[in-house]
Amino acid sequence: MNQTHGALPFPVTAGGAVAIDPSPATPSWPGLAIAAGRLGIALDDEALARFARYREVLLERNAQFNLTAIRDREGIECKLFLNALAIVPALDAVKSLHAHHRTRLVDVGAGAGFPGLPLQIARPDLDLTLVDATAKKTVFLNEVIADLGLDHARAIHGRAEDLGQDRGYRERFDVAAARAVASLPVLLEYVVPFLRVGGTALLPKGLQIDEELRHGRRAAKILGAEIVSADRLPIDGTRLVIATKAEPTPADYPRRIGLPSRSPLGKGP
Ligand code: SAH
Repeated sequence: MNQTHGALPFPVTAGGAVAIDPSPATPSWPGLAIAAGRLGIALDDEALARFARYREVLLERNAQFNLTAIRDREGIECKLFLNALAIVPALDAVKSLHAHHRTRLVDVGAGAGFPGLPLQIARPDLDLTLVDATAKKTVFLNEVIADLGLDHARAIHGRAEDLGQDRGYRERFDVAAARAVASLPVLLEYVVPFLRVGGTALLPKGLQIDEELRHGRRAAKILGAEIVSADRLPIDGTRLVIATKAEPTPADYPRRIGLPSRSPLGKGP
């Protein structure tokens, strides 16, 4: 995938962000459908109803627990829903490679469900596993999954370092995604072990990632993967790092809990 942001078939603002129409005359809900449309993604009524419900549950539960720092309707739509939806075109490209089965996606460090749940809502033919180290978050996620009637999704409480060594999860997924969890070398050690050979990691990142990318390329190689692109997404200064797995990950990885973040792979001169 070498799509540049200039080639995408929808308008972007000067800052590169897709804007939700803030006019009070426009109810915010059609705003999500329109903004998603600008990203080239059509959301049907069922998807819109699920996003509406997810937003309400997030607002409700965020008042009780600290699930995400983003607490207002517009922030949820722009920063959480649309940012996740911006990955859908890349996901569709990967999905088309194995149309014969439900694409299995793992979201590592999903938190309150990002980017995994919006991806599942927009593409209900996925099979989604959300992983998070905090039980309160996976309990919340399983409640949302039941509430939205998402039959092919589940949340698992655990750490990437453990589940990546568990036969039930290791090398079982076609796609891995993770957002706002760790720097690229750490993130790659978390996600690549979950991928089957031929699988793809979709990792949204900020714009200033040159150094992370340099270390990330070395880390990817150690893990049996390769970073194939890091193009800008048409939303809020994000780049999408895409890595593919060419070989099985050596059995040593992921290392034991805490080591990936304390001593990231690929560091050094
Ligand atoms: N991806 C979400 C949440 C980001 S916060 C979003 O974009 O909003 C980071 C989350 O990663 C936290 O919920 C934390 O519990 C989880 N996390 C951090 N390290 C982890 C690990 N090693 N294994 C599993 N989850 C982890």
